Amino acid sequence: MPHILRILLAVLLLQPALSVAAEPAVPDHPIAIVIHGGAGTITRKDMTPEMDAEYRAALKQALEAGYTVLKQGGRSLDAVQAAIRVMEDSPLFNAGKGAVFAHNGKNELDAALMDGSTLKAGAVAGVEHIKNPIDLARLVMEKTPHVMLMGEGAEEFARSQGVPLVPASYFFTQRRWDELQRALKMEADDRRASLEQYPGTTAHGFGTVGAVALDRRGELAAGTSTGGLNNKYYGRVGDSPIIGAGTYADGRSCGVSGTGTGEYFIRLGLAKGISDLMRFKGMSVQAAADQLVLHDLVELGGADSGGAIAMDKDGNIRMPFNTEGMYRAYIDTAGKEFVAIYKDE
Ligand code: ASP
Repeated sequence: MPHILRILLAVLLLQPALSVAAEPAVPDHPIAIVIHGGAGTITRKDMTPEMDAEYRAALKQALEAGYTVLKQGGRSLDAVQAAIRVMEDSPLFNAGKGAVFAHNGKNELDAALMDGSTLKAGAVAGVEHIKNPIDLARLVMEKTPHVMLMGEGAEEFARSQGVPLVPASYFFTQRRWDELQRALKMEADDRRASLEQYPGTTAHGFGTVGAVALDRRGELAAGTSTGGLNNKYYGRVGDSPIIGAGTYADGRSCGVSGTGTGEYFIRLGLAKGISDLMRFKGMSVQAAADQLVLHDLVELGGADSGGAIAMDKDGNIRMPFNTEGMYRAYIDTAGKEFVAIYKDE
């Protein structure tokens, strides 16, 4: 064979190998993470400097736990879980250890996790003995053909997966207990008025936690974990574990986690609504998130009802809320860190 033909043949044979080699050995998509620790009537005058500092430190710790996973090339799902786990373990937030009490004096926890690259999702509702509901949501996603498990079935599944169950007393905190007592007293004082409203919020508002992360593969994931609403009816499930309401991730659009009066979020399909505006109307994450949180929620009667964090597949972040404040933080694709509580920050 003439030399030139031999070279051509070699180039052709090498082609597939060359194109594979052209892809980076280590995926290097820009990474980012955004988290929230709940929205509500959070004003400077209600906060002591110590509490303010405590919340900021906890947000920072959660943010960095998630970001470390991303920096090391870990998956967005793992980053979301890592960030949420820190907030579940903190008594400051209404999730895991700091969960609010239902009307009957019990803690019933909800959580969900969604993988934007496959649209796989897992959720648990009404669990009473799971220290980190977000981890159980991941197991539901990966180890069952289902999306959501609730109550006893969810706990039985946890046991089968070797997840240790904690006694209900683990979730007791004096602060949340006092909040329930205040709500019960208000209810007794004015039964009619309270029945016309959704169950009482806590002194500082909501407190659900959530995270959205974008990893080096360019994959998005979102998760949310909560104790629900203070003084909620026992058996009530909020928006957080409902895919499309309080939690959603789609690699073609964005990841979303919400916090607020779940009933409104469920009725609007808020998280999926943001994604749909992006996918089908070509809206930016900023415009889509603002539309749902600042307009649609308010129009439905949910002024002062909550907020959401949203991040698109390029790492653009939006954190709209229609309350006085929202515990929130992010590290963006440029590596810039931001932690805030009040509206004017
Ligand atoms: N969205 C949660 C629920 O309705 C409450 C919260 O955000 O604090 O269960």
